[in-house]
Amino acid sequence: MNSETSSMLFDVVVIGGSHAGQSAALQIARARRRVLVIDAGARRNRFAAQSHGVIGLDGRSPDAIAAEGKAQLLAYPNAQWRADSVVRAERSDAGYTLRCASGQDYRARQLVLAFGVVDELPELEGLEERWGESVFHCPYCHGYELDRGRIGVLGGGPLSYLSAMLMPEWGQTVFLTDGGYEPDEEQREALARRGVEIVRDRIARIVDRATVELADGRRIAFDGLFTMNRFRLSSPVAEQLGCAIEEGPLGPYVRTDDAMETSAPGVFACGDITHRGGTVALAIGNGALAGIAAHRKLVFG
Ligand SMILES: Cc1cc2nc3c(=O)[nH]c(=O)nc-3n(C[C@H](O)[C@H](O)[C@H](O)COP(=O)(O)OP(=O)(O)OC[C@H]3O[C@@H](n4cnc5c(N)ncnc54)[C@H](O)[C@@H]3O)c2cc1C
Repeated sequence: MNSETSSMLFDVVVIGGSHAGQSAALQIARARRRVLVIDAGARRNRFAAQSHGVIGLDGRSPDAIAAEGKAQLLAYPNAQWRADSVVRAERSDAGYTLRCASGQDYRARQLVLAFGVVDELPELEGLEERWGESVFHCPYCHGYELDRGRIGVLGGGPLSYLSAMLMPEWGQTVFLTDGGYEPDEEQREALARRGVEIVRDRIARIVDRATVELADGRRIAFDGLFTMNRFRLSSPVAEQLGCAIEEGPLGPYVRTDDAMETSAPGVFACGDITHRGGTVALAIGNGALAGIAAHRKLVFG
């Protein structure tokens, strides 16, 4: 670690250096302001071999997209990068002071929070090791590649019913309620109209690529499985800064205004931690918005 860097006051420090954070930092770097990205290196999509749905980048590996984004950002001499994790953030005279896991402190006039979310996966044997390979949460990201094959929707609540209703766009769908959520009569009729079969049996585990083994030992083979899992914020930094947090249908998000500024003045947020997140394209888009808004606040206050 460079002690000169730690004593330097940055115009903006971006916490999280994935799609949203890189996009925000790029705007600030191109405005010739000093920007530091601190990144713990655990992108949400690191389990997937390909990233889909981003025009110009469709089908590329998420690792390659992130590596190229980082290289493009660091071509600007006023942009810096630290592989570290912010563990504490507080207001200080100049703006904000950050403490990292390494023990280093950084100071910033303004902050952009882009630290993403952590998926809370259902406790089902065989699911975790298939996450991003044959078990997914987003059909817009991974539905097309299933080639109109057999799709299982793992049930857990009313949102999985909505997922089961949507999924026939991508393949022949079975709604696996696992003995839990029971669709009402109207929902059952709607599922039938969409050609969705309901299997209510308890699920024991996932085997092979995406085969569901039921509690009685029967097996149903699928090309892919989808789950509507909950998630949590990756870091407590937003709470530490007093940013208002709202509860969404699947987990918490940091409240922002139209310019991606949180309820804490001079603290912006972007990507999956906001209600406008969920995909790489959205993270890049609202990351750019956060970066531009943070820069304008430096100028206009
Ligand atoms: C399996 C899977 C596959 C996916 N596939 C697709 C796809 O094909 N197409 C698509 O559009 N979307 C896809 N997504 C969604 C996509 O991953 C997210 O929408 C996107 O990564 C959000 O970007 P982000 O920058 O907000 O957060 P992230 O990409 O999650 O990055 C957050 C970054 O912040 C860092 N960080 C966390 N805490 C700290 C801290 N305290 N200090 C410093 N750094 C910190 C993390 O380590 C990480 O590097 C997929 C998601 C999953 C789970």
